[in-house]
Amino acid sequence: MNTKWFQRKSRVAATSALVTAAAAGAFVLGVSSSGSAASASPCSDPVTQYYRALQYQQSANNAALQIQTWRRAADQLDRILASKVARTSHKPLAIMTDLDETVLDNSALLARDLEQCHTYTSWDTWNDWELHGNPTLTAGARWFFAYANSKHVAIYYVSDRYQQNISATLATLNTLGLPQAVASHTLLYTTDANTKAVRRASIEKNHTLLMQFGDQLVDFDGSFKGLTSDQQHVRATQLASHWGRDWIMFPNAAYGKWGSATLNAWNAPVVVGYPQ
Ligand SMILES: [Mg+2]
Repeated sequence: MNTKWFQRKSRVAATSALVTAAAAGAFVLGVSSSGSAASASPCSDPVTQYYRALQYQQSANNAALQIQTWRRAADQLDRILASKVARTSHKPLAIMTDLDETVLDNSALLARDLEQCHTYTSWDTWNDWELHGNPTLTAGARWFFAYANSKHVAIYYVSDRYQQNISATLATLNTLGLPQAVASHTLLYTTDANTKAVRRASIEKNHTLLMQFGDQLVDFDGSFKGLTSDQQHVRATQLASHWGRDWIMFPNAAYGKWGSATLNAWNAPVVVGYPQ
């Protein structure tokens, strides 16, 4: 067990669980064995947080957003490749991407756990998923990475998946048809490289890093690590010049630091009615 990875994931998810359990009374879905949203969940409150995973999987809007984002990423890659930074680089050019919920869609694991009333906040089913699971790709991902590969850009897959399971992760990436999915381009969590900042620096030692892709703020910059949700809002705004240019963020409705944030509600009584 990768203890630090486990503890970090647990902290995020545990706070998320508290918020979501409170909200779940307003919107609780179960899932039938056929996979369709159905009757009220038979699970205890903490497990109802999984409805987010179902939203992520079921939403065609989400798929459209992913396609839109990968298409935008390809446009940006073209612009950056034509820029002076790329044209005058003495180092090989590279891009760096997170895997889970950026390239890989793991919502089937979360949906299965929901069906079994098993909370994902412990992440104790994740190891089995890495070894034997069959994630799909986010919509448009295969197209984008084939495009980047055709531009002769080095692709680095940087993920907090377990290094012990790298053979299984490489098999997953290759089965899904992703290019350059070899061990030297797949940088997973190790004791020595326990942050993405460390692995990013190792790439930049020998490459000019053009773009980054992720679904969590810490995928892009180490300064987000340890910040509260409010502080992350401030930092994300300070770094606004990156978003949509060299940093491309993907939606993740299933989990994230945002889950611990309080909601700002309209301070007015509920008035029910329609135009007369
Ligand atoms: Mg991710």
